[in-house]
Amino acid sequence: MKQVYLDTFGCQMNVADTDRMELLLFHSGYVRTGQMGEADLILINTCSIREKAEQKIYSLAGNLKPLKMANPDLILGFTGCLAQQEGERLLEKIPFVDLVLGPDGIEHIVQVVDEVKGKNGPVVRTEFDTEKNYSIPEFAGETPLHPGPSTFVNIIKGCDKFCTFCVVPGTRGREKSREALEIEREVRLLVSRGAREIILLGQNVNAYGKRGLKQAVPFHELLYRVAAIPGVERLRFTTSHPKDFTKECIAAYKDIDILANHLHLPVQSGNNRILEEMRRTHTAEEYISLIDELKSAVPDVALSTDIIVGYPGESDSEFEDTLVLIERVQFSSSYMFTYSPRPGTPAQDFPDSVPQSVKSERLQRTIELQNRLTREQGQKFAGQEVDVLVEGRSSRPGADFRGRNPHYWSVNFTGDQNRIRPGDMVKVRIEEVSGHALRGKAVALNRGGKRTLLEQGIPITTG
Ligand code: SF4
Repeated sequence: MKQVYLDTFGCQMNVADTDRMELLLFHSGYVRTGQMGEADLILINTCSIREKAEQKIYSLAGNLKPLKMANPDLILGFTGCLAQQEGERLLEKIPFVDLVLGPDGIEHIVQVVDEVKGKNGPVVRTEFDTEKNYSIPEFAGETPLHPGPSTFVNIIKGCDKFCTFCVVPGTRGREKSREALEIEREVRLLVSRGAREIILLGQNVNAYGKRGLKQAVPFHELLYRVAAIPGVERLRFTTSHPKDFTKECIAAYKDIDILANHLHLPVQSGNNRILEEMRRTHTAEEYISLIDELKSAVPDVALSTDIIVGYPGESDSEFEDTLVLIERVQFSSSYMFTYSPRPGTPAQDFPDSVPQSVKSERLQRTIELQNRLTREQGQKFAGQEVDVLVEGRSSRPGADFRGRNPHYWSVNFTGDQNRIRPGDMVKVRIEEVSGHALRGKAVALNRGGKRTLLEQGIPITTG
């Protein structure tokens, strides 16, 4: 078999796209290799959400040049958002590239690779598909993919929100949902291969089902349907938009036991003028009232968010509003960035008026505030027993396993290496909190509906 080396930059959507390409290529005779030097085909699945990601990709391209020069038969491709954004321009910037493919075209990766071989020259595909919904056709038989205990399932791609700073609508196109029946089939298959936690995935996941489906299913209903599939032990979704976060979705948190008590809900800014400039379509007050409603339904829900500081024209007091909102909501973690203009976005044309030094100082203050909140939130777990889905062996010294609790905190813990295995749900007593990570010791194992105490060294099955 031929060998393909795949590298992924950026978000979980890209990780899922890379997995999809691996599967498609496997069925056309390629196996994945971890060694670039052995590959017949190298695909870099790119990201353009921030300038830094772009710079990393161009520097990787420079490292690939000697491989291509040494082996002219090697096919070198760039897929994903940077490929979509740059299109033909990428051939000028990286003249030795053979293939440029946007995220909407990854389903055609095999045909595009064949086209490169037949044409003996570069191929660029950046057109969006014209379907109103989208499908990930199932493969029967052997596949190279073995899902981990926690696995992502794409339910929607693209975004219709057009936030002024964001490249996604330009690189991934309009929202398109998958039929619920197809999603359920995929979840059953993943569970049969060992998945225990399903994370429903999309740029704007709770816009799912709004249009284009043959059988319309709103997002909250999809949650109930996936939760009812035997073998699904934990359910999450990411990423949501406040505008699409409905009362029915809040009710789902109350109704569905296995829906994890965590929500990642980007807010970006705490100031209404900036939110309007960003075209976020909600105010800070509306965001807070949504959070209050969720907290009254699910008091121990953990919240995380995305924050941009130094958006064009952001004044000191407008920035302070963001700190006020962060403190008010009490996020357990945040992805925090300074604003940088992205090609093809409306905000690119706004005067980038906040000096870099001010942006950096605002970022620092935001990080300090979030670190304090994270420390405070973490203390709530000290001495408590939390449910952890075991994802694998821990790389931390002194810990045997790693996993996450329902609140999406990373947990490293010691435990009986002869009894515990990935995919188990383990009760861990938390002994230490550090950053956004917890440490502890396994005290009980829940497997197949049976609870086994582990602490005394002699397992006791309690039924
Ligand atoms: S909702 Fe999210 S993905 Fe969509 S445009 Fe806004 S920031 Fe980008």
